[in-house]
Amino acid sequence: MKTVAQSDLFRKLPSADEVVRSPALALSVATEGHAVVTDAVRAVLAGLRHEIAMGRLGEAEVDLALAGFDAAVERQLRQSLAYSLRPVINATGVILHTNLGRAPLLDAAIDQIRRTAATYSNLEFDLESGQRGKRDIHLDHLFQRLLAESMARESKADAKDETKSDPSTAESSAITTIVVNNNAAAVLLALNTLAEGSEVIVSRGELVEIGGSFRIPDVMGKSGAILREVGTTNRTRIADYERAINDRTGLLLRVHRSNFEISGFTERPLLAELTGLARTRGLPLMEDLGSGALFDLRSIGIAGEPGILDSLRTGVDLVTYSGDKLLGGPQAGLISGRRDLVARMRGNCLFRALRADKLIYAALEATLLAYVKRDHDAIPALRMMRLSKEDIGRRAEALVAKLISGGLEVELIDGESVIGGGAAPSSVLPTRLLALFRKNMSADEIATRLRAYDPPIVARVEEDRVLLDLRTVFESQDEAVLKALKALAEMN
Ligand SMILES: *Cc1c(COP(=O)(O)O)cnc(C)c1O
Repeated sequence: MKTVAQSDLFRKLPSADEVVRSPALALSVATEGHAVVTDAVRAVLAGLRHEIAMGRLGEAEVDLALAGFDAAVERQLRQSLAYSLRPVINATGVILHTNLGRAPLLDAAIDQIRRTAATYSNLEFDLESGQRGKRDIHLDHLFQRLLAESMARESKADAKDETKSDPSTAESSAITTIVVNNNAAAVLLALNTLAEGSEVIVSRGELVEIGGSFRIPDVMGKSGAILREVGTTNRTRIADYERAINDRTGLLLRVHRSNFEISGFTERPLLAELTGLARTRGLPLMEDLGSGALFDLRSIGIAGEPGILDSLRTGVDLVTYSGDKLLGGPQAGLISGRRDLVARMRGNCLFRALRADKLIYAALEATLLAYVKRDHDAIPALRMMRLSKEDIGRRAEALVAKLISGGLEVELIDGESVIGGGAAPSSVLPTRLLALFRKNMSADEIATRLRAYDPPIVARVEEDRVLLDLRTVFESQDEAVLKALKALAEMN
């Protein structure tokens, strides 16, 4: 009997064509196109057929579903056309949150991407000569300007230092910069170019894993360089490097210990000792800075994070760093250093495979221009770093004042924001946090509800409390946070 009833139910279902032609869907067909509306109708029909086949729907339920058919198609359409990648509100207080896309771009970068990407550009075209050009030139002059201070010092040092192993001309002592896809690619390219088939000396205390399977020993292997570990996990001396140097040595490598610190009985040579050793032995010294700050973090009370300028000034031949960490720009890998060494990388076919897209050049140029103008607050990540606890506290208070408490309790407490992205792992920035409590709801449930909000709000959960840090929330998003909190308060 059941099968007969089922076939009757199936017969009630309209054909996809019929539904698509219905006036209720005319607007959707006009705006989204016939094809996707048909797909959505088919998906809804398939769902209904499945439910009927499973015996889950009787005649009344099928009639009900048919009455709401157009609405179901609209829902299906919205769902199938929704972007997967979408904006979220970062209320974690982690400024360079890798899972949330690291540095948000400055407005000028977004404008410049729009302006140049929507049409053709002179990406690799020299407008004066009408000949093929190089994409690097759009950024190299800005990097040179920003790193000029280090160049000036270096050439002075060169002039005095006659024992220099490499009799460079003024030209080759200048700093130049190339761009690849990310810093992992920068390290791979540099190692492959400078040390394929030869030994690279690294301290055991710096054989780090950055996350996302980027491990220095693995990258070294892929590059064709041979890892020569020296020292121990906690202590490496300059003499360890010295002893390891032999005919097969191609490079000395220093790696920034991102996302961890070794404390206690530790030692590693000063950077100046390493540059001295590299110079006397005629070997290049490369430093993987990871974050690579162009902005002096000491001005916001963070010491011990090496800057790009510090390293170049000390005489490191090459530094590699990310575009979307402390630089505050788009994802990219930058290699800055000795012109002769960088020129070799440019000639490596890996460079072609790892090169950055035009959107990246557009965004990086805008970011660097903000540095040239000393307009650090234009760069969101830097602006967030520079916010004081008082600034954040005032915004948090304003938000709480507008909340009619309902079921939600909100307390303002002192706390800490972190930079993230492997930068300054042990430094924190004092902040004010909104701590949320709700009766009969765990912190995880509250956090889940905040993530389900549109736009999703990502909070921190600590000791069964939900904490919101407005440092990483754009002021223009405060209203959305308030709305979400109101919705939480009014829930019963
Ligand atoms: C982050 C980091 C990397 C990887 O940089 P990506 O831009 O994420 O590819 C490499 N080395 C160090 C020391 C880092 O901190």
